Amino acid sequence: MSEPLLRIDDLSVGYGDFIAVDGASLQVDEGQIVSLIGLNGAGKTTLTSAVTGLLKPTSGKVYFGAEDITGMNTDKIVSKGLSLIPQGGRCFNRMSVQDNLLMGSFPRSARKEAKETLGHVYELFPVLKEKMRDPAGSLSGGQRQMVAIGRALMARPKCLIFDEISLGLSPAVIKDIYNRIQSINERDKTAIILIEQDTRRALKMSDSFFVMLKGKIVLSGKSAEVDAETLKEAYFGI
Ligand code: ATP
Repeated sequence: MSEPLLRIDDLSVGYGDFIAVDGASLQVDEGQIVSLIGLNGAGKTTLTSAVTGLLKPTSGKVYFGAEDITGMNTDKIVSKGLSLIPQGGRCFNRMSVQDNLLMGSFPRSARKEAKETLGHVYELFPVLKEKMRDPAGSLSGGQRQMVAIGRALMARPKCLIFDEISLGLSPAVIKDIYNRIQSINERDKTAIILIEQDTRRALKMSDSFFVMLKGKIVLSGKSAEVDAETLKEAYFGI
C-alpha cells in the first residue's frame, strides 16, 4: 500500500487549558472523498484548522504525503496542495470576483497556470464568469461560496477541506454546490474532506467517514458499509 495523501496522527489541540481535539487520527488517500461528521462543538473545525496551520497543535503530527507539515504556516501548506474552505464562504467583498479568484493562485507553481486554472473555475461555475467584474459582496450567499471554492482551486490543490459549506444555503443551492464538488473530485482526482451536519448527504458522497465526539475520533469506516445504529451511538455518544 502506498502512503496516504494526508495523515493526521494522534493530534491534540487546545484553547488555553481546554482540550478541543484529543488525540485524533485520520487518513485520506489520493482522490478519496472522506466525511468528518459530529455534533456541534465536537472539534471538527478545530482539528481542520490545526491541520491547515490556522491553529498550533499541542501534540501529534500531520503528514502530507511523506512530508511532516505539523505547525507549518498556512501559506506554505496551501502551496503544498492542501487548502481549507472555511464556514461561510469568506470573500473580499469590495474586490471583483475575478480578483478574488486570482488571489488564490499565489503559490509559485499555481501562478504559472493561473489563466488555465481560471478557465477551469469558470467552466465549473459559469455564473462567476458572468459576474467576474462585479464586487464579490454583491453576490448571493451561494455564489460567494462558489468564489471561495474557486479561490481555493486556483492554488491547484491535491486535497480540499470543506467546512460545512451548506450552512445558511437553500437546498437547491446546496445540491448544486455538492454536484460541483463531485466534478472537482472526478476531474482532477482532488481528495476531499467534507465536514457536514447532514450525515446522510455526507455518507452518500464519501468513500469513508470519521465520527468525532468531544474531541476524539470515535468511529471510522467505509461509508457504504456503515451500520445505522452503531453510527447513531457514536455520533451522540450513547
Ligand atoms: P461546529 O459544527 O459547531 O463548528 P465543531 O465540531 O467544528 O463544531 P469546534 O468549533 O472545533 O467544533 O469546537 C470544539 C470545541 O472548542 C467546542 O467546545 C468549542 O466551544 C470550543 N472552541 C472553539 N473555538 C474556540 C475558541 N476560539 N476559544 C475557546 N474555545 C473554542
